[in-house]
Parts: sequence; structure tokens; C-alpha cells
Amino acid sequence: MNAPLPLEIAREAAGNAYDTVSQASNEVAGRLAQRLAAETQGEVLFSPADRGRYATDASIYQVVPVGVFVPKSAEDARIALDICRDLKVPVVPRGGGTSQCGQTVGAGLVIDFSKHVRKVLEVDAAQRTATVEPGIVLDHLNAHLKKTGLWYPVDVSTAAQATLGGMAGNNSCGSRSIAYGNMVHNVLGAQAWTSDGQLHTFGRFDEAGGAVRALGERVRDLALALAPEIEANWPKVLRRVAGYNLDVFHNQNEKPYTKDGSVNLAHLLVGSEGTLALTRSLKLQLSELPRHKVLGVVNFPTFYQAMDSAQHIVKLGTDGTLTAVELVDRTMIDLSLQNPAFAPTVRTALIGRPDALLLVEFAGADKAALARKLSELEQLMGDLGLPGSVVLMSDEAPQKNLWEVRKAGLNIMMSLKGDGKPVSFIEDCAVPLQHLAEYTDALTQVFRKHGTKGTWYAHASVGTLHVRPILDMRRNGAPEMRAIAEEASALVRKYKGAYSGEHGDGLCRGEWIRWQFGPKIDDAFREIKRMFDPLDLLSPRRIIDPPRMDDTRLMRFPPTYKVIPLQPALDWSAWDVQNDPATEKTTAPGTGGDQAKGLAKAVEMCNNNGHCRKFDAGTMCPSYRVTRDEKHLTRGRANTLRLALSGQLGPDGLASEDVREALELCVSCKGCKRDCPTGVDMARMKIEFLAADRRKNGFSLKDRLIGRLPDYAATASRFAGLLNLRNRVPLLAKLGEKFLGLSAQRSLPEWESCHFFQAGVPGASREELLAAQRPVVLFVDTFNAFFESANAKAAFHVLAAAGYTVHIASKETGDGKHLCCGRTYLASGMVDEARAKATELVDALHPLAAKGIPVVGLEPSCLLSLRDEFTAMGFGERARVLAGQALLLEEFLAREAAAGRLEELRGKLKPLDKPILVHGHCHQKAFGAISPVLDVLKLVPGAQPQLIESSCCGMAGSFGYEAKHHAVSMQMAELSLLPAVRSAPDALVVADGTSCRHQIHDGAQRQALHAAVVLEMALRA
Ligand SMILES: Cc1cc2nc3c(=O)[nH]c(=O)nc-3n(C[C@H](O)[C@H](O)[C@H](O)COP(=O)(O)OP(=O)(O)OC[C@H]3O[C@@H](n4cnc5c(N)ncnc54)[C@H](O)[C@@H]3O)c2cc1C
Ligand code: SF4
Ligand code: SF4
Repeated sequence: MNAPLPLEIAREAAGNAYDTVSQASNEVAGRLAQRLAAETQGEVLFSPADRGRYATDASIYQVVPVGVFVPKSAEDARIALDICRDLKVPVVPRGGGTSQCGQTVGAGLVIDFSKHVRKVLEVDAAQRTATVEPGIVLDHLNAHLKKTGLWYPVDVSTAAQATLGGMAGNNSCGSRSIAYGNMVHNVLGAQAWTSDGQLHTFGRFDEAGGAVRALGERVRDLALALAPEIEANWPKVLRRVAGYNLDVFHNQNEKPYTKDGSVNLAHLLVGSEGTLALTRSLKLQLSELPRHKVLGVVNFPTFYQAMDSAQHIVKLGTDGTLTAVELVDRTMIDLSLQNPAFAPTVRTALIGRPDALLLVEFAGADKAALARKLSELEQLMGDLGLPGSVVLMSDEAPQKNLWEVRKAGLNIMMSLKGDGKPVSFIEDCAVPLQHLAEYTDALTQVFRKHGTKGTWYAHASVGTLHVRPILDMRRNGAPEMRAIAEEASALVRKYKGAYSGEHGDGLCRGEWIRWQFGPKIDDAFREIKRMFDPLDLLSPRRIIDPPRMDDTRLMRFPPTYKVIPLQPALDWSAWDVQNDPATEKTTAPGTGGDQAKGLAKAVEMCNNNGHCRKFDAGTMCPSYRVTRDEKHLTRGRANTLRLALSGQLGPDGLASEDVREALELCVSCKGCKRDCPTGVDMARMKIEFLAADRRKNGFSLKDRLIGRLPDYAATASRFAGLLNLRNRVPLLAKLGEKFLGLSAQRSLPEWESCHFFQAGVPGASREELLAAQRPVVLFVDTFNAFFESANAKAAFHVLAAAGYTVHIASKETGDGKHLCCGRTYLASGMVDEARAKATELVDALHPLAAKGIPVVGLEPSCLLSLRDEFTAMGFGERARVLAGQALLLEEFLAREAAAGRLEELRGKLKPLDKPILVHGHCHQKAFGAISPVLDVLKLVPGAQPQLIESSCCGMAGSFGYEAKHHAVSMQMAELSLLPAVRSAPDALVVADGTSCRHQIHDGAQRQALHAAVVLEMALRA
């Protein structure tokens, strides 16, 4: 995977890069790349696109690094450090890159520990400790620990992405920090390299010897000499993460660093943001997994009262059972109520129309004791003048649902379209609880004065409330940010709080360190940096001598940011808007001034939060799950597109080789469309790339063969016997691989000589349909018509058995042939041809849809394009009307069943007496169309269908058939789908996607069935 050595590593190419960090010339960068490639096993990524992808994190900043190194092992990281020292190139360590303050951006060599350096080295369940490499993700560690009944309790919201090395770097804090403390309270030791290449073990000071002891003594002397300053200036709140932890020798925090009051030198590294040493391993203190949790949701008539009550509520936690007090404000309640998926859950938590909620969680081993805590909470609220304000949740499921709603509310807030975005820069100031109400009130006034507003959420228990005012960084965002920061800091000082209470310093808050601690302590921090890193090699100018937070040369969207003018193939005007920061109202589509007609603004929706780096439930992002490469991640792709569209990757823009590489393994699963908090829709963006690329490079034979399949399918089926020989004669398969790139290891779908449209299925005419009581249009796609017509016949029979008059969609005029959604054309970059097909379909079916007649389809990727891509092809209202009636068969049947109109069918279905496993097609998941499949299968008496927790099957249209993708395709299938199928040999496997069924057949040698076929089986049983 080594990238080619750099052609050009000019600092000029770094655009607005912060060039005083690294003085690496082209020559030095070239030598660095060469030595890394020669002396290590790691990946050496020095292309402009690679460096561009690692130039950002979840902050507003962008600094192009000299290069990127992905070590295969800890030893590789050490060698890289030595090489950097030799060549005087700074080192910027990185985990998941989810820092919000720009900690991981810098013009040195970025070392990404997250891909390979992620082993659990040791777990000692008896001592409740674990030793891990820095690249391991918190959720993965906790999954590993589950069998021991222990967990690592610093439960950051980014638990699925954050690495332990990054968490230690930032001194991260979870929402349950009131019970467990911050990262620093849960680290027992660390092995780390200082910039001279020495590996040290940091642990208890009283046990330290040699160089570590000497370092500790020098820090201790500093702390003792500065005791009065520390006492006077050090914030006394739990949530203080700024600067270095000089106070390990003179603790000012309400929570001691260690249980026995000893000093642990590893705590000096925690929160040092990669500036003191490079972490090789961490020894962690584990906790017992809480056996029970209960939740009390307190409803407040005013936000102020909610804030004011937090100080009293936390007093219920003196016995250690209080684990969280989380805020949900009115804006979030409203956003959740607008979302049909979340409204029912949030309603269960509401009493009337509260202005704010506090989610108060107690956890412990004794459920009865927890129930008593809820009673105490109710009583307390009565005492505070709010009797009857608490909704009690003792069961796990409603609690879990409510936590999900809180997360989702934030996500919706983040998806604001237009150049104004919620910006994180004062988002985690922490103030003592008694001042929380006044502080939030005063800060809200500050926002108002600056013509913006913020939505409040998060950790009321520890006085850290997240808030992001909306600012437009391309216009006056930077000065506004500074002005708000200054006023916020004055409030923090007034209330004796901590300016940096969770997310670290980085570029955004570094300059506030001196302000917070005063010059003497700041000088002591400089001294600590000099002791550990005299060469100033590790993340220079962070924490010590940091730049100004509002230096626009360091920003991703500086006022000079420009987009290359282009006309996209699809309609992106919905993104081409501006917004009003005070009301969040957006202007009309197409008025945002985007030179790329909305495409660029859609790409820029990615705020780099890294949520796509996940392996848990949901689809996003299958290619990253297999490769773990930033390049093959939705974020990496969005960054590549942003850089290309803004001319930062050269003149080829969208059609550049860098974009092709980044999108090569995108399977267009639309997982990101659903799972990405800001709705980045990479599948649609890939259509733009394909169109631009084919405009430049022309179509290959394979493109034409796959794209035009619907055009020649009827003719080809006449030669079914001959064409199917390809699957029986290995030589033909090999020739297919050589000339078309279709893998010889794959069977191809088998043509049927008697296809659906010849089978004499007695569909109703349009006239009969219009006259019918229960009309429905069956849209039979190319795949189910010419390769698996039994599915379409089964759907017809099921609908007829349920009492519907079924019209089979066909062209209204001309040759009367089958209609096509254009999916294969889109997948081949033939957008004009796809639009022509879609036009035929809209012309034929819109008049029926306009009369309220449902259009029902079988293949998710085909039918759902009527609800997705069709609305971006310029059909206006007609597409919207058709989209409103376009349903997958199961969505239609589930709707009808819920309305009590399927009793006839229900009466005819017989038991099948087999377990049923369901694999959802990615597009079904993206459109929330999976639960109807389960609902409909449950109409079969006794059926208890189980959903396989799977991401993409890996086939994804033609992707898995291509020789160059075969291996990746199989790896995707092996992540969860194929093992699940194999583990249930007796089950009926249901998969609605044509290519999913093919993948299951190829990978597990099992015949998966469309749900329509299962229903028909139950009719015939
Ligand atoms: C939506 C969102 C929600 C968040 N919620 C929380 C939250 O609830 N609580 C919280 O505390 N934070 C939160 N954060 C911030 C961030 O996720 C955390 O700080 C997280 O722990 C960072 O982990 P990471 O692996 O992404 O680290 P990175 O961002 O990659 O790195 C963090 C720091 O660690 C350093 N580092 C990484 N590896 C090493 C190493 N091997 N040696 C030395 N230094 C190293 C880096 O240089 C950097 O300074 C949130 C961020 C986002 C975007
Ligand atoms: S693509 Fe979406 S999930 Fe991924 S980093 Fe960007 S905004 Fe976050
Ligand atoms: S469409 Fe699928 S593969 Fe492509 S970026 Fe989105 S989640 Fe990843």
C-alpha cells in the first residue's frame, strides 16, 4: 500500500498551511519518505491527496502535513521517530482524528496509530487492569473486556472512533465522569518514547528511577515553587483539561488523581496532546460493568431552572450511584419531535411542554437501591417546587431509546445547510454547578448580541455544557469567534471555571492557556516541554507558544476558499443555500452562491467528526471496515472531493485520479446517507465523479455492457442457453475477465429464456386499474424480469391473493416494453441515458401515482431510486408525487396490514416451520425499509424472522463481479453476513437484493429468497 514517493512536496502546495511549524523542504520530505519506505514496514502516504486527507480533524482547522505514516507496529513508530529526529521533521501523532480543537493537524509527519498499532497486550481481571497499544478504539476494548464483567468507563460520545492513545492525549471525559472521573483518573501507567528516542515507563513517582525519576523531580520542584500560583489560578472543577497536569504534585481538583494520593508520572502525559512523548502503550484501570441502570427524566418549565437544579441533583450521588446528569434543551426536544422515528420515544419522557430535560441516571448492583434513588429524585424535585416532574424509566429498552434520541437530536442540529455552521470553540467550558444557570444565561445573551444562537446539551453533572454558536467561517466567522471567545472567557473567569473542560487545547484553545493559568505557570509548562522534548520535535507550537485561534491561514474554510465552477450532472440545489444563524432558516434552493451548483456545499457538509469510522450497527462504511484506510472512509472521500472541488488537488477537479482512487471502493451502499450525522450522500456524489470521469476518459466496454443491460435484456434472453455457457465453460469466464474485467471466480446471473414479460402473467390494463377498488402498479425491474422472474411472479400472486388489482408497469406509448429506473446507467456514469429511462418511467407512472395509486417494486436499488435519484434529475413536482407512491412490496403490504386491509391474505398463509434469517439490502436500510420486511414475514403464522446485523454484502451491483474488487467484496461479506448464514444451516435466508442473493450463493452456497417468494411459499404450503 505504499504510495509513490512525493513528486512535489512544496510548502506552497500546502496552500494556507501553517508553515512555521515545519521547515521541511522538498528534498527533506523526499528523503523522509524514502527512509520510511526503506526502513519500516509501514505505509508511507505522501501524495497531495493523502496529505490533504490528514490535514484536518473534527476542528475547523486545516494544516497540510509533510507526509503521513501508518506504522505496521509500535517498532515502526519508533523508527519513524528516529528518522524524523535525524531529518528535523516534526511528528504529529494521531488516533481517530476526532479532536475538535485541531490537536492532530500540523505540518510535520502525521503518524496514524489507529490502523495497526491496536493490540490488547494484557488483561488482568483480578487486578482490574488492561494494557493496550494506543491505536485501539474504546468500543473495541470494551467488547474485548465484556466477558470479564469489566469495562473501561471513560465513555466518550465518540467511543466507536476514539482510540485510547487519543483519549489519553486529550484527557478525554465521558458522560459518566461524575462517577468515574476523566481519562487521567483511569490511567495507571504508560510506556512512551521521548523525542530523543528513549522508551520510558511512566508510573508511580515513588517507584520511579533513572531518567523518569529525574524528570519527575524537576516537575515536582516546579510545582512546589509555584504552589501559591497553582492555588490561586488553577480551576477547581473536575473538568479541567488545559495545559499540563503540573498539579499532580499539588492537586487542586475535587477528585484526587489517585485513590491513595500518590503521584503517578503517567498523568503528566495525559492531556499533553502528543507534545511530550509518543505513547507506545497504556496501562488502564478498569471498572466493574454496572449491573443495573435506572433513569429519571426531570421535566423543567424553564431552562434556567434545569441549570439551577443540577447542583442539588448531584448531591444525590454521594453514595457513588449517580452516573450521569445530561441536558436536553427545547431545541433538541423539538427536533426529536419532528422526527417520526424518535417522536414516540421522546413523548414518553415528556410531561406537558417542558423547556428542558435533565436525564438523571443511577447505576449499581442493587436494583432496589436504585429504585430508592429515583424516589429520592422525585422527592427532591418536589422540594424544589416541581412535584410530579419526573418520568421514571427502570427498564433498559426505554432508557436506551432515550439516549439514542439525545444523540440524534445533536446530529440533526449538525446537519444545518449553508455556510453558517455550528462551530466548536467554547463548547466545553466548565463552571462550578452553583453558577451554571447564570453562566448559560449570560452566554446566551452573548450569542444574541452577536446575531447567533446556540443549542445546549450534555454534561450538567459536571458543569460542562456543550454549545456551538453558528458562524460562517468564510465571511466574518473568525473575528466573531474571537469576540465570542473573549466574552465567554470573561464569564468563565467570573465564575471561576475552566475554559477547556473536555476537548483539549489544540489550535483553538492553546492561546488561552496563559490566560487561564497566568504567565508563571505557563512558563513552567514551557519548562516541562523543554525537559521532555528539548528538540521541539513533538507537535511543536501546541500548548506552548500556540498560534492565534482566529488565524484564518490555519482554517479549512478561510475567506479565500474558492470552488471551481462546474455544472453537476444531478440537481444539488437543495444544498445551495445560506442560513440565518439566529433562526436557522435557510434561503431558497439554488441561492447559496455555490459555483458547483450545490455539489460543493453538499460535500462540505462533512464536518470531519469521524462518525463513519465505525464497526458497530449500521452500514457505513463497508469499505473502511475492510481496509481501515482513511482514503476508503466516507470522511476521507468527502475530504478528497472537497480538496478536488476547491482546486487543491490540481486542475482535473472531480475527474482527477485522486478522486478515482478515493471512490474506487465505495460500493454506493448509501449507508452514509442514513448513518452520517450530516447526511453526506457519497453514493450520489460517486455518480457525479463517474459522470465527470467518463466525460473525460470515455466509457469502457464493461461500462457499456453493464449500463445498457436493460436495453438488450429482452434480445439477450433469446440466447439464454448460449450466454449461460459463460458459467459452465471456464475458458469463457477467463476471457470475460481478460476483456471485460469481470471476475472468473464469480458466476454471473443466469439469463432466462422465458422472461417475466413473456410468461403471460395476467396483469390488469390501465383502464381496469383505474376502475379498480384496490389498485396497485407492480414495477418489475430488469433483474427480476430477465434473471429471476419467479420473484416477480410471486409478488403478483401475493398481491392478487390479497385482493389487489395489479397492473404491470410498462411504457405507455411506443413499444410497450418494460420500464427501467436507469440504475445500471447511473452506476456506469451514463447520467443522460439514466435520465432518459427515468423520463419514460415518470411519464408512464406519474399519472397513476397522481391518482394515489401505489407503485410497488421488488429490487430495492431500483425501486428506491424513484424516491432518491429521481428527485435530483430535474422532474420537479412530478418526481415528488411519484416518490410519494413508490414503495417496496413489503412496505406496501406492511402499510396495508396496519390499516387492516390484509385480512384476506392473512387467512390464506400457512406456517412454514422454518427459522427465517433476513439480510437487508443497504438501500433498504438507508431508507428505513427493513422493519416492514420483518413485519410482513410475521404475517406467516408462527414466523419469527431474525435480522442479520450486517453491513453491505459486498456485491453492490456490479462491484463484486469485477475482478479487481473480488477480494474486497468477499471480505465485506465475511465481516458478518456469510458467517451468520453459515451458522443457521436450516434457516430460510431472505434477501431482497439481487446481488445480495448472488453473494450469499457464491459465498455460502445457499439459495437466498426474495420475501415475495417466501410469502408465496406460505400461500402454497
Ligand atoms: C461528535 C464528537 C463528540 C465528542 N465527544 C467527546 C466526549 O464525549 N468526551 C470527550 O472527552 N471528547 C469528545 N470528543 C473529542 C474526541 O473525540 C476525543 O478527544 C477523543 O478521545 C479523541 O480520540 P482520537 O482517537 O480521535 O484522538 P485524536 O484526535 O487522533 O488525537 C488526540 C490527541 O492525542 C494525541 N495522540 C494520539 N495518539 C497518540 C500517541 N500514540 N502518542 C501520543 N499522543 C497521541 C494526538 O496528537 C492528539 O493531540 C468528541 C468529538 C466529536 C467530534
Ligand atoms: S462523512 Fe459524515 S460521518 Fe463521516 S466524518 Fe463526515 S460528517 Fe462525519
Ligand atoms: S456509499 Fe457506502 S461505501 Fe460509499 S462512502 Fe457511503 S457508506 Fe461508504
